[in-house]
Amino acid sequence: MANLGILLTKAALITAVAEIATIAVFVLMRWFGAEAIESSEWIETLIIPLLVGMPIATYVVNQADKLRAANHQMTILNEAREQSLRQLQQAHDLISYAARHDRMTGLLNREGFMSDLSRAHEALEQSVLLIVDADFFKSINDRFGHAAGDSALTAIAKAIRRAARPIDVVGRIGGEEFGVLVRHVSVSAAAEVSERVRLEVAETVWGPDESTPVPLSVSIGGAAVRDFADSVTALMVHADACLYEAKRLGRNRIAFNATISDMARSMVTRLRPVGAQ
Ligand code: GH3
Ligand code: MG
Ligand code: MG
Repeated sequence: MANLGILLTKAALITAVAEIATIAVFVLMRWFGAEAIESSEWIETLIIPLLVGMPIATYVVNQADKLRAANHQMTILNEAREQSLRQLQQAHDLISYAARHDRMTGLLNREGFMSDLSRAHEALEQSVLLIVDADFFKSINDRFGHAAGDSALTAIAKAIRRAARPIDVVGRIGGEEFGVLVRHVSVSAAAEVSERVRLEVAETVWGPDESTPVPLSVSIGGAAVRDFADSVTALMVHADACLYEAKRLGRNRIAFNATISDMARSMVTRLRPVGAQ
């Protein structure tokens, strides 16, 4: 009802303007022609614009109001659509991040790490793969419980990330096993990074509580991407064999050269079909 009142008021205003303009034109024309104005002509001049102008003005004002309302509605819908798109993009980013990252340590997960490693391998980058395995980790779980073990694993992950350079790719590729792709370096430079990782973990102060410091250590095996141009699996097998060489030699150390028996052992482990014992 209020809307109808506003609509008619606007139409009446427009009609009034039309009315005044018609009268002005009519009076001027007669004045220039020096003709007298008949009283019937006055009635026509006042009534005709009112009869024609008022419905037209009402229609036009009504259409303009509808257009404005539709425009307003469209702006709201557009904003809502843009907000939905933004939320969808955020959800997509979150899902992509979760698909590539390990929740516990925040490092890349196995899939994320392997995909970056494969890309570096395809490009035959001069990079070096390190496989880093926590030493005697089972005993940490056995002594302090699985939750404390998780906290120790997180401390090891942080130490590895600190020791690696920002451009290096770091991931958790198994339970207590990590991968580091030391990028664009020679083997000797990668060995330095590897030693830094070993030291950083060994110097990490960790304990299930503040009064029980527990030493942590890792063993590391390394292999250069370009030495295994044929397959990523061969690269992994070699780095893994080196890791077992480091374990065999006493742990808390690095190795880049594997023995034949370590190679054979690693090959059996890495190439075993999933689910086989
Ligand atoms: P080694 O020096 O030969 O590597 O000895 P290890 O005890 O580390 O190796 P082993 O393969 O015998 O045991 C690995 C242990 O790591 C056993 C497993 O329960 C533990 N582990 C693997 N993933 C997780 C995890 O996510 N959280 C915790 N708390 N423990 C884990
Ligand atoms: Mg281990
Ligand atoms: Mg292991």
